[in-house]
Amino acid sequence: MPRIYHKCHFCGGKVLERRIIVDYRWGDELIAVIKNVPAGVCQICGEQYFKAEIVKEMEKLVHSKEKPKKTIHVPLRELTVV
Ligand SMILES: [Zn+2]
Repeated sequence: MPRIYHKCHFCGGKVLERRIIVDYRWGDELIAVIKNVPAGVCQICGEQYFKAEIVKEMEKLVHSKEKPKKTIHVPLRELTVV
């Protein structure tokens, strides 16, 4: 059954479901990159909306003991402009 999304809260645009890649963060730390996540995406401004059950599934996934598909290393940099 398709998930239904309300119109965009910010611009009133139509929100359609897409499969996106989520950078899952806990505070400052990137703890996982999750592919193939169903999310509502506003067709005008690009705002993303997640259903509660999808958020729960992502939480379960990042805390699971299952071995990830792949582990990646990303550089950490800091911008120093004042
Ligand atoms: Zn929008």
